[in-house]
Order: sequence, then structure tokens, then C-alpha cells
Amino acid sequence: MTFHDDDDDDFPHWFHGSEYMHRVAGAVAKYGPVTRTALAQILGLSQGALSRITSDLIHAGVIEEVTGDVRHGPLPENFRAKESGERRGRPQTALALCANARTFVGIKLNGTEAIGAAVNAHGEVVSGRHEVTFADRSPEQVTNAIAELTGGCRLDLAAAGLPEPVALGIAVGGHVEHDAVVTSAPFLRWDGDVDLKALAERATGLPTSVYNDIDSLLVDASWFGPGVGLETFAVLTIGIGVGYSLAIHGQPVNYPDKSYGLAAHVLVDPKGPTCVAGHIGCAECLTDSSIAGEYSSLIGRAATFDEFVADARNDLPQATWLLRRTCFRLGTFIAIIANLAMPRTVMIAGESAFLAKMGSASVRDGINRYRHSQASPVRFTVVDHDWQLWAKAAASRAIVKYLG
Ligand SMILES: [Zn+2]
Repeated sequence: MTFHDDDDDDFPHWFHGSEYMHRVAGAVAKYGPVTRTALAQILGLSQGALSRITSDLIHAGVIEEVTGDVRHGPLPENFRAKESGERRGRPQTALALCANARTFVGIKLNGTEAIGAAVNAHGEVVSGRHEVTFADRSPEQVTNAIAELTGGCRLDLAAAGLPEPVALGIAVGGHVEHDAVVTSAPFLRWDGDVDLKALAERATGLPTSVYNDIDSLLVDASWFGPGVGLETFAVLTIGIGVGYSLAIHGQPVNYPDKSYGLAAHVLVDPKGPTCVAGHIGCAECLTDSSIAGEYSSLIGRAATFDEFVADARNDLPQATWLLRRTCFRLGTFIAIIANLAMPRTVMIAGESAFLAKMGSASVRDGINRYRHSQASPVRFTVVDHDWQLWAKAAASRAIVKYLG
């Protein structure tokens, strides 16, 4: 696991210390509240070595002791608590990150709107909802939206008596280099490279990092959500587009071309509709526009995606058929991901993830159709869509970097 990102030397860090000090802080962030005994086992440290490091971190105001009825966070999946010296009945002391000692702002950029949220060091949202729309997608106007959202978050933090944010994370659908330069952003229709980090830093005065949005969701879930402690964890998003990313030990797999939407054209149904690239039955059939198109041809008149959803909720036969079919295709896609990439859990997110809840039996059928009968069931979790979650995820990446 790499904690030191030398790409970005001007990004602030919570503390400067040894590699192990950073590892301990990272483990407390993920697994806290966590006892010293469990922490030492997870990191393979002696109790003595761990105690020295945790003292330093407590002294630096990064972590704190919590006592009383301590409930563990999730622990690594292969973790087996050894018989410890902790006697039954003795009050447990555990370690947690100092949640409100630091705050961060996260912003998710969409085609014509941006959503912002302030979070604490636990990745918990501590601000109200902030949204700004922009008709003009130029980098200048988008930067103005970023400044406005950051200003709103700062006011919320001050009103709540929380500290000023230490960093800003921005998530964008597309390709970002060195956590700074957006080289491809289809929804923003930018030509050429945009140094969004520099623009945002000038406009907000906050140290900024810019990330791919799906990777941000993945990292957020791996540090503060359903992916904590999993060796391998995948996220699949459906909505306007199809997105996919894979994490190993909480870190997104580094693959230079992955933010070009490669997962969108994987074959999932040999009898599915044809995509713009001419493929029959590729994963593009899971996008809102493809579903709307397919529904329109089924009912013989132009219908929107929202009309399809309303008709499916009202159990209209053609809509019900297409919902089941779509969920079966989604299940097929999950099985392909599970069979090849072998994640422990697949998280389904995105604007249209709710379809997986409406047709969960069909999702399961699709998975089982392409899974060996003796293979373990594929675990998947469906996340209710909220753009604020994507903004929080951008902030979570800034937290991880700040802890590094
Ligand atoms: Zn295709």
C-alpha cells in the first residue's frame, strides 16, 4: 500500500512521521474505533512498537482514545482475533481518528451542475446540501461554481463551530492526470487539458486534488463504507453512463486507460440492443438512454427513461418485461466481473442503481446463469443514489491523501 504520493508535494499532510506511523493512522481511519490489540495484529506490529506510535499520534492530535461500550468498526476479512490479554468485563479502550479536528470539502462536477459537501475526518458529511447549476461549461464558469460551493460549505462549518477545511477534493467523470489536470471530461465537453487543480486553488485558496469520480466512490467505500477491510472490491455504476472500477486492499487498481469507460462495451446480452458503436447487447444497454430507446420500440412510441420507470412501478407488462431483462443483464455483468476480477463484493451505484432493487430477483438470476453452481454466491450491495455521496467521495480522497 502506498501512502506517500510524490506527485503532489504541495498537498498538506496531517503529520509527518515514519511509514508505520502513516500505516497506523490509516488503519485507525478505516477500522476505528479499534483496540490496540486488534490494530497490532492487523499491522503485524508488537504491542510495544504500536504503543509508541499511537502515543505519538495521540500527541499530534490525529487519533484519540474512546472508552466505554466500544463497538468495533469492520475489520479486515482475514482477520481472526487471537486470544488476547483483554479480560472479560474490563472496559475496552479503543482508538479512533479525531473526527472533527479536521474538515474537508468535496465537489462532484456533472455536465451542468456541481454538488458540494463538507466532511469531517471520518468522511461524514457535516454540511448542508450545496448545489450550483451552470449553463456555460467553460473551465472559468465551472471554477466559479467550485468557489461558490466551497464558500457555502465554509459558512456551514463556521456555523457549526467546526474548523476551516484543510483541503478540497474534486471528482469528475473522465480522465485526470497527477490528481490535477483533466485530460478528458465528456460531460463537461472541455477541449484539451484543463489544470483544474490550479484553477480551483486560485479560486478557493484551498490545496486541491482532482480525481476520477468512479475511483472516488471506490476509495470512499474502501475507507469509510462497504468496502472496508475487503481484499478486492468493485464498484459498478449505471445511469447516464456505465462505470466500473476495482480496488485491491483499498487502493484503485492503477490502469492508465480505465477512465475511458472501457466497461461500457462488454457483451452482456447476445440478443440485446445495438449501441452507437454497433455492438449488439453490450453493457451500454444498461444506460438510461438505451433503456428509453428499447422501451420506445417495445411500446411503439417515443418514451423517456422516467416514463419507463413509472410504467414499471405500475406493473405495465412491457415495462415489467424490460425491467426484468435489464436486471438480468446487470446480473450477467456482475457475474462477468465476479468471475474475472474476483472481487469479494460488488457495489452497484449510480443514478439508476435503484433498478437493481426493483428487479433484484432478476439480478440474482442473471448472476446465477453465469456462475458455477458450487461457486460461492456473489455478494453485491446497492447504494441509493445521491450526488452528495459523490461529493463526499471526492472529499474522502482528499482525506486519504492528507493522511498519507
Ligand atoms: Zn457498445
